[in-house]
Amino acid sequence: MSKAATRKIVEAAGARDAIMADLNAICDTGGRFAGTESEVRAREYLAARLKALTGTDPVRMLIDDTGWVRGEAAIERQDGPGGSYPCVSLVRSPATPAEGLTAALIDLGRGTEADFKTRAVDIPGHIVMVRHEYMFTAQTVHRRRKYQWAMDHGAVGFLIASHLPGDGPVTGSSGATPERGIPAAGISAKTAASLVDGGPAKLRLRISAETPARRTENLILDLPGRGKEWVVLSAHIDGHHLSESAIDNGTGLAAALAVAGAMAPHMSSMQRGLRIGLFTVEEWALAGSARYVDGLSEAERAAIQLNVNLDSVAGGPNLTALTSGFAAAEAWLVEAAGRHGRSLGAYRPLMQNSDHYNFARHGVPAARFVAGFDEPNSNLRHVLTEGDNRDKIAAGDLAAAAALVAGIIADACQADDLNLR
Ligand SMILES: [Zn+2]
Repeated sequence: MSKAATRKIVEAAGARDAIMADLNAICDTGGRFAGTESEVRAREYLAARLKALTGTDPVRMLIDDTGWVRGEAAIERQDGPGGSYPCVSLVRSPATPAEGLTAALIDLGRGTEADFKTRAVDIPGHIVMVRHEYMFTAQTVHRRRKYQWAMDHGAVGFLIASHLPGDGPVTGSSGATPERGIPAAGISAKTAASLVDGGPAKLRLRISAETPARRTENLILDLPGRGKEWVVLSAHIDGHHLSESAIDNGTGLAAALAVAGAMAPHMSSMQRGLRIGLFTVEEWALAGSARYVDGLSEAERAAIQLNVNLDSVAGGPNLTALTSGFAAAEAWLVEAAGRHGRSLGAYRPLMQNSDHYNFARHGVPAARFVAGFDEPNSNLRHVLTEGDNRDKIAAGDLAAAAALVAGIIADACQADDLNLR
């Protein structure tokens, strides 16, 4: 394939108006919390767009699992100044008894493993409070690890406070399973301050939730090349109810559409095919992609030479590839970006923070592309808060991310040899 054709692909994927129209339409569907009408609207929009852009209908992969529907949640302080405070139950939090869960609060600060160890004797029977962290650094201690430590140390409830100042709560998954969990909720920084004002509080935490059966769908689209190998470009559909989930992951979805549309007319001259995987229930322990990759045969997995997973690719100008321990893939990706006149950051350790993890754990070279890595002041600080809306995304950043991904995907699909394992 000629350099001119590759340039066309890059230009087409980076067309600002088109990608912003898709981003806006995706944001218009709402936060896309899995199992809601908003998620269905987004999926139907994405399916229709994939057909319009490539001429092919995506395959729908049914996912049946136990859903979780958020009910009311609130905190009452039963000592000192009293008062009631808003909170947001974390995904899959068990419900409390109807009359609530009453216990004393213990503030563990950031909530590192050391924080839990230092206060170990004080934790049993308490509701622990920890802080949410900027999610995209090498040092981030993930909420689900803090939740596990809380349970391991005998806590009866879990509160996590926003890293942003003010009234807005933070949300996210708890990591609770039907077998093991304690009630868990996100709160604002302001509420956290109120709960320790005048000494740690005695609290009544009330959470209601239901767990009906749920049926949802991944969308899988194959654009075959000349050979039997595949490059998989993925992005997750679902998000959270507090916002439009614009950065996480409207940006990844819009970029995946742009790359699919740009590549489609050129597939007959590509060595390997492009598979688009739009996975859902990512925010729930990466369930959609787990079901997909686990369900492939050994031969089908072996035919996938690379997974590029787009999750939160704008909100800042710089992109980083989280390369899951695959040194050869990392070197190839950074070099490919350079050929397209762009720099791409790289971080090698395997991170379980998006769908690429399910490819990587099966030995498929896989990288998550993310904006704002190690840039805590970038707009990615709004992810999982009510601020994750389209106003945080510069059109130029999103278009540039899509153009870079298109260049890399075009190179990966047309390389004579691509052995990155
Ligand atoms: Zn995400």
